[in-house]
Amino acid sequence: MAYPGPHESLITSPLLRRGGMLVLDTVFPRLCPACDVTLEKHAPRSGIDAWLCQVCLGDLEPIKPPYCSVCGESFDGPMTREFRCSNCDGRRMAFDFAISAFKARGVLRELIHQFKYSRDLSLRGVLADTLKPALNDPRLIGEDLSQWLLVPVPLHFLREMRREFNQSWELCRMLAEETGIPAVQALRRTRLTSTQAKLQRRQRLENLRGVFALRLALPWRPRPDLLGRKILLVDDVLTTGATAHECAKVLKRQAGAEKVVVITAARG
Ligand SMILES: [Zn+2]
Ligand SMILES: [Zn+2]
Repeated sequence: MAYPGPHESLITSPLLRRGGMLVLDTVFPRLCPACDVTLEKHAPRSGIDAWLCQVCLGDLEPIKPPYCSVCGESFDGPMTREFRCSNCDGRRMAFDFAISAFKARGVLRELIHQFKYSRDLSLRGVLADTLKPALNDPRLIGEDLSQWLLVPVPLHFLREMRREFNQSWELCRMLAEETGIPAVQALRRTRLTSTQAKLQRRQRLENLRGVFALRLALPWRPRPDLLGRKILLVDDVLTTGATAHECAKVLKRQAGAEKVVVITAARG
């Protein structure tokens, strides 16, 4: 896998940087955002280990093979061949495949809840780092990700106004900063929908039909050219895949994107 890499730091000397970090840690100790425990001074400086304490790290459950080749739902037990789960079997998904980094439970579920519903923007860093392992999926190895685009699942503008941010766009921006993969808001939601979490699978599909469209071109903001592009569609959680399917449909059919891979921090 190749991506352009993070931006250059202003302090180039590693020794100075480490010294500066130690001073910062003494003045402002790093706290685990999930349980408020102070992190060890020698805790790593990057990745998910730089955010969470050992106990909370131990609570994360990575999604490991075997998993469904379409939606990434993981299964216990040995599975030697590629397979589709019962949710995806016989269903045509517009995205190529979806990868989630961790199961949506325990600490991660709480963090996502706090991020979205308590509008705690300070959690975007830790959540972007929980999403990052999804980029290590074997199917993305060998891809030049610097040529791909990060696209967020959009919120309706009224909901975004109330929440003050779109969690998926915030994850995209953090990921773009860390990996150098460009991020662009290409989609919009045409109407407010009831919250998906309370609906059954069939209702979710009905609820979402035709709800996404390409963002309108404005004089100061031209529409991004997605023709033939490969896209990483970013969201916090993937549940039935209905939202991702509808977004991918627009990206492929209306904008001509070549490939859409869904990446999420958690799998519900
Ligand atoms: Zn903790
Ligand atoms: Zn599946």
